[in-house]
Amino acid sequence: MMDTLILGTSDNDISEAAELIKQGEVVAIPTETVYGLAANAFDENAVRKIFAAKNRPCDNPLIVHISSFDMVYDIAKSVPELAYKCAELFWAGPLTMIMPKKDSIPLVTSGGLDTVGIRFPSNPIAQKIIEKCGLPLAAPSANLSGSPSPTNAARVYEDMSGRISAIVDGGESDVGVESTVITFENDGIRILRPGGISREDLLRVCDNVIVDEGVSSKLPSGTVARSPGMKYKHYSPKADVILIDSDIDGFRKYVVENKTDNTYCLLFDEGEAVEGVPYLTYGDDSIEQAHNLFERLRQFDEMGAERVYARCPEQSGVGLAVFNRILRSAGFNLIKL
Ligand code: AMP
Ligand code: MG
Repeated sequence: MMDTLILGTSDNDISEAAELIKQGEVVAIPTETVYGLAANAFDENAVRKIFAAKNRPCDNPLIVHISSFDMVYDIAKSVPELAYKCAELFWAGPLTMIMPKKDSIPLVTSGGLDTVGIRFPSNPIAQKIIEKCGLPLAAPSANLSGSPSPTNAARVYEDMSGRISAIVDGGESDVGVESTVITFENDGIRILRPGGISREDLLRVCDNVIVDEGVSSKLPSGTVARSPGMKYKHYSPKADVILIDSDIDGFRKYVVENKTDNTYCLLFDEGEAVEGVPYLTYGDDSIEQAHNLFERLRQFDEMGAERVYARCPEQSGVGLAVFNRILRSAGFNLIKL
């Protein structure tokens, strides 16, 4: 165990964070998606510390973060043609592109794969830290493996206190869910993980944009996941989350008939309350839901919830990312009424 320093966003604090990272330490940093656990992507030992702090399976690759497009050439062996167009439209922003990796990126970082996920975050604090380091930073979400991703510094502290050198407190994450992860194939784009950049956004780049089967359903056992992260339990609070795809009347009836002592609801808004059942709301539209979802899941834990019935989000636009995360929180327990 070590002391975990809490840093702000002054130039001094950012320099201190960058210094720690350059010395091979792990520092939690704010990004526009969720908080990340950052280390020098070229340094095997530093990257091993990330896996240890999170308890992350070593075959689950890390995304490498950059602060200028040209850093891609230090990391990727070749750059797919479509990647330039994606970068032009969506970088800096919540889009991760998978490319063939250079030998400079150790296999520890790429989870043993010969490819690497690259992202240029738009959060100005994240950009400043990467720039100060002068290095690409490997950074997965700053939660213990399996728990909901943190969208503020207090939640990072909850999971990472004593496990990492420092946390840079940059306020609330804007988007609230992790980046969209895409790979390029057959002159098209395959979405491996939906996020802040939607399928509809990507259709501006080319008309062949496929959503991987693993996004909205459990992969059959024995299938090799195109994105190793798909295999693992994710975003799970202590409560059993049950996702209910229904109109509000069906939802209410189901909750009344099936609730037990410690049941809560996750609703879009207060008007949907079920009499006698405590609830939290996560918003009426996909942007708000993405922003709030992970924080609400952690709040249910604090409230001691044992079961949570959740309203099922729309699956278009950023809603697909919300659906993907909440479906995993629910361990794929989706009831269609
Ligand atoms: P996180 O670090 O929590 O944001 O998760 C990163 C996600 O990106 C995981 O689901 C990984 O499996 C996925 N990912 C990262 N790099 C690659 C890669 N080279 N190929 C496929 N998926 C990747
Ligand atoms: Mg994660």
